[in-house]
Amino acid sequence: MKVRKVRGTRDILPDKIRKWQYIEKIAREILENFGFQEIRTPLFEETPLFSRSIGEATDIVAKEMYTFKDRKGRSLTLRPEGTAPIVRAYLENRLPTPAKLYYLGPFYRYERPQAGRYREFYQIGAETIGSDSPASDAEIISLTMTLLKKLGLKDLILQLNGAGCRKCQPDYKEALKNYFRKKLNSLCDDCKRRYRKNPLRILDCKSKGCQKYIAQAPAISNYLCEKCKATLEEVKKYLDILKIEYTINPRLVRGLDYYTRTAFEITSRELGAQNAIAAGGRYDDLIEDLGGPSTPAVGVALGTDRLILALEREGVRLPVEEGIDVYLASLGTRASKKGFALVQRLREKNLKVEGSLSSKSLKSQLRLANKLGARYVLILGEEELTKKKAILKEMATGKQKKILLNKIVEEISRKVG
Ligand SMILES: [Zn+2]
Ligand SMILES: [Zn+2]
Repeated sequence: MKVRKVRGTRDILPDKIRKWQYIEKIAREILENFGFQEIRTPLFEETPLFSRSIGEATDIVAKEMYTFKDRKGRSLTLRPEGTAPIVRAYLENRLPTPAKLYYLGPFYRYERPQAGRYREFYQIGAETIGSDSPASDAEIISLTMTLLKKLGLKDLILQLNGAGCRKCQPDYKEALKNYFRKKLNSLCDDCKRRYRKNPLRILDCKSKGCQKYIAQAPAISNYLCEKCKATLEEVKKYLDILKIEYTINPRLVRGLDYYTRTAFEITSRELGAQNAIAAGGRYDDLIEDLGGPSTPAVGVALGTDRLILALEREGVRLPVEEGIDVYLASLGTRASKKGFALVQRLREKNLKVEGSLSSKSLKSQLRLANKLGARYVLILGEEELTKKKAILKEMATGKQKKILLNKIVEEISRKVG
């Protein structure tokens, strides 16, 4: 039996990993600049954490979670998103408020795999817990735009909307029910279920048959209460201060139940409207729903896989470092022992160094140095050892010179560093 990877998962191989590492490095820098601190939560949690917070009527809870029983019969779920675990950790560890937290890592949803969509996917996210200021919403949006622009994306569209709250959402849900009641027979089976459980979720439906009715459905913007309207207006003002362009999409509601007031999505023209690169919003009731005191919060999650796809489609070349600094080629037993020690000393100088661990011909060692993208090759043979010298060859120019063994580390550090 040949074991293969599970459908919807993939191996991120060494030839791609530099890109990932670069994106994660820039993300960490920007998140820290914005005052966020990293938090790592478990990959699995008790199932009710997700079913209660994301909502029973959402696609995620209804059909996309990896839920299983452990050996004691407890129902556990691989995390399908990052916000609920962070709220759980915030409450359980009594973190100080306001808490500005960020995370990077894998998440799990049973979805149909397609370009930029995997069953194990990666997200970068940030949450500000304990601030009801619309400036926090704008800060979260600004942080996301800063990151995407820093990575080189240009064709970005920021869509913004008010998602309503406990006070005004019931009126809007009623309006949706009235509207869809007569069309119920034409809707897909999922939407019939959504109609009963939470008509808001009909707006997430991707099926063509439902889409034409959704396009004509009442917009939430006409049902927002005064506080929701005021929040949206303030967020817009803060975005204007930062000169961040946005469009208001009156039908934008995010596919999770916990969003309140602000909802936003960032898409790229290259990937199309169905494939948001980043999305988020306020969730002012979630912390209370999960057993904590009433605490406002706002957050964003960015899909790393889609981000990489957008970068590829826009033809952005990331400035990733390739190759190594030095390859040490040695000939003969004595030289190879000496070389082994030298490699270690060079590595201690924070250089990327590789050396031959087997006695291959000089030709094949040089071929390997080339393949590894070495900037310099240090050649150590019996003859050189006797003269206490080694040959240093610059690969780009082919120039070579002899240097004293006791000067090697200093000389190479100077050249490469
Ligand atoms: Zn409201
Ligand atoms: Zn539908």
